[in-house]
Parts: sequence; structure tokens; C-alpha cells
Amino acid sequence: MPEQEIKGSTRLCGLIGNPVRHTFSPQIHNTLADLTGQDLVYTAFPVENPEGLDAAVRGAFELGILGMNVTVPYKQDVMKSLVGIDPAAERIGAVNTLVRTENGYKGYNTDYVGLRRALEDKGISLKGKNVVLVGAGGAARSAAILCAEEGAECLAILNRTVEKAQSLCDAVAAHYDKIKLLPFDLQKAGSLPLDAYIVIQCTNVGLYPKVQETPVSDPAFIRKAEAVYDLIYTPEETRFMKLCKEYGIPAWNGMDMLLWQGVSSFELWTGAQVTAAQAEIVKKKLRKVLKERQ
Ligand code: NAP
Repeated sequence: MPEQEIKGSTRLCGLIGNPVRHTFSPQIHNTLADLTGQDLVYTAFPVENPEGLDAAVRGAFELGILGMNVTVPYKQDVMKSLVGIDPAAERIGAVNTLVRTENGYKGYNTDYVGLRRALEDKGISLKGKNVVLVGAGGAARSAAILCAEEGAECLAILNRTVEKAQSLCDAVAAHYDKIKLLPFDLQKAGSLPLDAYIVIQCTNVGLYPKVQETPVSDPAFIRKAEAVYDLIYTPEETRFMKLCKEYGIPAWNGMDMLLWQGVSSFELWTGAQVTAAQAEIVKKKLRKVLKERQ
């Protein structure tokens, strides 16, 4: 529960999606509100009927809701209900944050910002680098646009369903002409014709409770990685991360991306600047909540 008293002046932010029961966003935003002294509370709203999505967004606006996060399955569909879309979110083709304007909500993608910030914090620069994305779903889309934006030299997208890797490469190519793109079959990862790459693991393989699974285990692929960022944060160390570390390759989980996407949404809604010390407190809280859930 937020520590601050809820008053007539208290602003509301929330999450729409389905399901929303297991989200960590209320813990992130209510902690940030307490730490930054914002008169704001955050809760989750399940939108069970997809046909009700537009009415939910319009209703939220009429009720004065300051901002919303959007999660599965509405990150694309919600774009139809907005008055504007940030250019990066437009290129990604998905929105996870709605920011109140005079006439309606404007959409942003803070997953993208969260991943950028998380990589920066680890000292990982994508500029001029070879990058391998493992996966070609929604999260990989944000990661792929980030790679192109940050000036990666070559982006290989490895996916179980190669057609989806191809279609994500096509989506990147539609906006960026410099980056070299390589769709590739995940099952043949060991024969990828690329060296010295940063791996961003974007599948849900290895996610709790199926912690023994890994999207790739071929040493021929793992040995050529320079650093690995796994978007999964439950468990704290995935089997894939463990395998990479056995070869001396630094590997991190997706906790910081989760944290920074939340911080970025909060800053967009409130105009507050979250300090590194405050973010660290939120991270500790997230770790505690994650441990309690497992
Ligand atoms: P998604 O759109 O459903 O995509 C799932 C991806 O995983 C697809 O590429 C899919 O391949 C692949 N996949 C699923 N099962 C597989 C299997 N058995 N073998 C090989 N590949 C398999 O999901 P998403 O929204 O992108 O999310 C992916 C992961 O990222 C989740 O674990 C999510 O929790 C995490 N995530 C983390 C953050 C964060 O803040 N850290 C943010 C967003 C997402 P096919 O195309 O072949 O089906």
C-alpha cells in the first residue's frame, strides 16, 4: 500500500491489459510516488473484453487519469485510441505508456527506453557492434529498433519461426538503411556467420517455472558472445545466463530494464526526475517481491 494518504487531490495512474494480476508495476510506481513525494497512486485495471479497449481509454481520460501503462494483449491495438504517438513507439509499432495531453493520451514505448538505460548501466554500447537478438516477438521488436537507433553495425535475429525473424528484419529495414540485417534459424545458432556479438535474449524460454530450459545451449554460439543481456528476470539467473557465465561471458538479467521502463513512464507522467539512489530503492523492493512470489 502507498504510504501517503489518499486525498481528494490524489492523481491516479494505472495499468490496462489482460491479465494484470501478476504485474510488478504498482510496486514500482507507488514506491516512486512515496520516494519523490508525488501525490499519486497506481493500480491495475483488467480490460477483459478487447472490444472495450477504446471505451476504457476514453473513460480513463474523462475520469482524469494522469497516465496509463499498457500490457499484453493491447500494446498495438491501443494505438488507435491515441491522439499522438512518439516516433520511436511508432517505429516499434507498440505502445506501453499513455501520457495525458489536453485532448487525449499520447503513446510512448518505455520498454525501449528501459532496455537502452539498462545496457548503458552495464557499460554496453551497441554503436558499431554486431548484435544478436534471440527471439522475434514483441520485446524483440523494441530491442531491434533500439539496435538500429543506436547504430549497431549488424543485427542478426534468431528465431524458432524464421518467418517472424524475417518479418522483424523487414520492419527494421523499412526505417533504417545502414544496419545489416540477418534473419536466422534459432535451431542452427551454432553456425551463425557472425563473431564478437552482444546477445539480447528476448524469448520467454527459461522463464519461471521452466527454469531448466534455455533457448540456445550450443557452445559454438555462446563462445562468440562478448556480453549477454537476458530480458527474463524470474529467475534472477536463467539457465542461458549460467551457460554463458561458464564460458566467462558477462550476463545480466532483465530486472534493470523492468525498473527503467517504469522509471521512464513515471517521469513522463509526473515530470519528476528519479535519482539513481531512488531507483536503487525500487530495485531492492522489486527483488524482495520477486523472491516472495517464487
Ligand atoms: P512474445 O511476443 O510472445 O514472443 C515470444 C518469443 O519467444 C518468440 O520469439 C517465440 O518464438 C519465442 N519462443 C517461445 N517459446 C519458444 C520455444 N519453446 N523455443 C524457442 N523460442 C520460443 O513475448 P514477448 O512479449 O516478446 O516477451 C518475451 C520475454 O521478454 C518474456 O519472458 C518477457 O517476460 C520478457 N520481457 C521482459 C521485459 C523487461 O522489462 N525485462 C519487458 C518485456 C518483455 P516463435 O516466434 O517461434 O513463437
